[in-house]
Amino acid sequence: MSNFPGPVRSRFAPSPTGYLHIGGARTALFAWLAARASGGCFILRIEDTDRERSTEASVRAILDGMSWLGLDHDEGPYFQSQRMARYAEVAEKLLGKGLAYRCYCSRERLDGLREAAMAAGEKPRYDGYCRNRQEPVEGIEPVLRFRNPDDGAVVFDDRVRGRIEISNEELDDLVIMRADGTPTYNFAVVVDDIDMQVNLVIRGDDHINNTPRQINIYRALGADVPDFAHVPMILGDDGSRLSKRHGAVSVLAWREQGYLPDALLNYLARLGWSHGDQEVFSRADLVELFSLEAVNRKASRFDTAKLNWLNQHYLKSAAPEQVLAELAWHMGRVGLDPVNGPPLADLLKVQADRVETLVEMVEQSRPFYADFESFDEQAAKKHLRPVAAEPLQALRQRLADLASWEPDELQQAVQATVDDLSIGFGKLGMPLRVALMGHGMSPAINHTLWLIGRDRSLTRIDRALDYIARRVEQS
Ligand code: GLU
Repeated sequence: MSNFPGPVRSRFAPSPTGYLHIGGARTALFAWLAARASGGCFILRIEDTDRERSTEASVRAILDGMSWLGLDHDEGPYFQSQRMARYAEVAEKLLGKGLAYRCYCSRERLDGLREAAMAAGEKPRYDGYCRNRQEPVEGIEPVLRFRNPDDGAVVFDDRVRGRIEISNEELDDLVIMRADGTPTYNFAVVVDDIDMQVNLVIRGDDHINNTPRQINIYRALGADVPDFAHVPMILGDDGSRLSKRHGAVSVLAWREQGYLPDALLNYLARLGWSHGDQEVFSRADLVELFSLEAVNRKASRFDTAKLNWLNQHYLKSAAPEQVLAELAWHMGRVGLDPVNGPPLADLLKVQADRVETLVEMVEQSRPFYADFESFDEQAAKKHLRPVAAEPLQALRQRLADLASWEPDELQQAVQATVDDLSIGFGKLGMPLRVALMGHGMSPAINHTLWLIGRDRSLTRIDRALDYIARRVEQS
């Protein structure tokens, strides 16, 4: 049973003035879950009325981030910049009904009001001076203000924060259209949410003070007021507001750091929402279990260690197609071509347990796809010594003759070699690692051989034997 009885029409409405950041992505996820859980509709709307600060690149980054996370929308993307005529039309309607008025007040006058309020220790507010002005003022392009009700209060039950009540005395007459004919945020957002029949507004709690003003505009327009859910912000692990200083903030930067979309999504859902002490949630679990009422009212702290833990969990358990597509993308980024080495599915099997991110996985897998230039000096000095020549030689012979190149057979070949020579495993294992990888770190030796493949393994053992021979000559 979903926690959303009727079909929810929710939306994500980012302003394209930067990348899709982690807080925005979480808001989007909650809105998406509400729509999916209720068999409703998830709308994407780009709030690009601020032409100075909105960029194409940011629109792209938002769309890419959403699609990487798999937060698909059913309607949109709508662009506010394409709806200007509609805002003007609705503004005109309010004007006609006397619910909005033209304001000609000069900057100086407004500044004066603000300063006087500040000096008196009060909240700055417009005094309604133009409410009753009859005549236009020559040479001044007016703004349009909403006539906020004088009496009464706005009350709403926030789905996260609970009951909120604000007296209308505290609200002033808000500018809804600027002198240049563009709408302000509070007006455009209401016109859009009405036109798009949004019945649940989920957004960051930095907007909570706007909501009573918006509710008054809904009422003035005779529209149904949607439900609201204001979700708290995300803090860095030191408790201060999450910023670049804490590492990646943009969703796509997390991708670049080697995280899987399902891991990040699971992590974001858990950040500020809980269901008992369960930590791992598939998308289907989230759709089934998510409820706004269980969203935390307090800001949540980002915890990279937990995200890493989840990421490793998904590396090991997510559907291979998803992981392999990401893995291939990461290989491409560092110039490695999967055709030059083992199938990525084999690589994943071996490496998933050993790393927390795909970036680590790719870094540690380079020798499976490309030859290394030279041996790590220290490792070679320590392990590629004359005593290693005989075991390497003997193993080489066995490997060349091996009927099948599979982990079990490879393990037996290494074991048989050390048994024959009556030496400890490490006497062959370490030189072999350095021979194959160029340094002393690798997965289990049989898996390492398996991934590198026969031809490349033999060539690399020969190269190590050469190195040892030269070392003998030089000494
Ligand atoms: N464009 C606003 C923002 O990015 C959206 C606020 C809302 O969802 O109403 O903060």
